[in-house]
Amino acid sequence: MINLISDTVTRPTPGMLEAMFKAKVGDDVFKDDPTVNELQKKVVDMFGMEDSLFCPSGTMTNQIAIKVHTQPLDEIICEENSHIFQYELGGYGFHSGAAILPLKCENGKLTAEIVKNNIRPQADWLPNSKLVVIENTGNRTGGNYYTKEEIQPIYETCRDNGLRLHLDGARLFNALTETNDTPREVGLQFDSISLCLSKGLGAPIGSMLIGKAEFIQKARKVRKVMGGGMRQAGYLAAAGIYALDNQIARLKEDHEKAGQIAAALGKCVHVKSIKPVFTNIIIFDLKDSMPGVKFIELMKKEGIAVVAFAPFTIRLVTHLDVTFEMVEKVCKVLERM
Ligand SMILES: *Cc1c(COP(=O)(O)O)cnc(C)c1O
Repeated sequence: MINLISDTVTRPTPGMLEAMFKAKVGDDVFKDDPTVNELQKKVVDMFGMEDSLFCPSGTMTNQIAIKVHTQPLDEIICEENSHIFQYELGGYGFHSGAAILPLKCENGKLTAEIVKNNIRPQADWLPNSKLVVIENTGNRTGGNYYTKEEIQPIYETCRDNGLRLHLDGARLFNALTETNDTPREVGLQFDSISLCLSKGLGAPIGSMLIGKAEFIQKARKVRKVMGGGMRQAGYLAAAGIYALDNQIARLKEDHEKAGQIAAALGKCVHVKSIKPVFTNIIIFDLKDSMPGVKFIELMKKEGIAVVAFAPFTIRLVTHLDVTFEMVEKVCKVLERM
């Protein structure tokens, strides 16, 4: 099966498994796991931030960040397609009692002006604007990305208005692959960053939360109350270290593969329109004669797994386990469908 459902479907490579097998471990709830400590320090050094925390998932790192940054009656400003709004079960309300303001944005990206125009005035009947969340790359918006020049005015608007700025960087390295911005430049622009190791980077599990020392100290407690305090987590952290050392540079191949598939979709008779492809995510609409369920069925018969985003909308994601040969096959199937 050629699995294009998500970049979360990757399996650890032999090199990664070997690193996991060899990991030195301890009890991380007591901060005694040397490999977790090494991963956390590595990420701190990469981003030039004060501290970081290894967590089971990106949903958890986002939710911890929201919990630490907000309190009930506070409001989060985000783009309407944001993972925190669409795919985290309203966790901002469940865990934090926070409100959310999901905004429709041209190109699916927040701007300083949009943020400025949506900061609530002081009034007894309005929530307090408190936190802005940027997603880079954007998942539902087709893997589009922000450059540091685009983020800077948003950062300044947040700073000038007493708002915190969190980055949902589940696929941050896919963005940096295209912008050539450095993790340190990103580190200067955010109060907190969530970074997935289990998407394009190919680790089986794990997400890093990065921020100031005081923020991470609070985050450790929130992680524990959410049940995310892990014991010999070094086996998993070793996969994260391996991913950061070995699997960042290859992300550009995934983008190249996505470009090839998009070109083939352009020649597929059932495709109505394709969203611009920026990184490793391809979103496209099918013609009325080809509902998504039927398209998925036809692809499945060819040994290709894809997922529907809406009745006539399909998303494909390229990743580590999709080789160029597989992409060639996918392209052939699409062109002769
Ligand atoms: C995948 C993803 C997350 C976190 O997902 P988990 O499955 O909980 O690790 C967060 N934000 C975005 C944009 C994502 O794509």
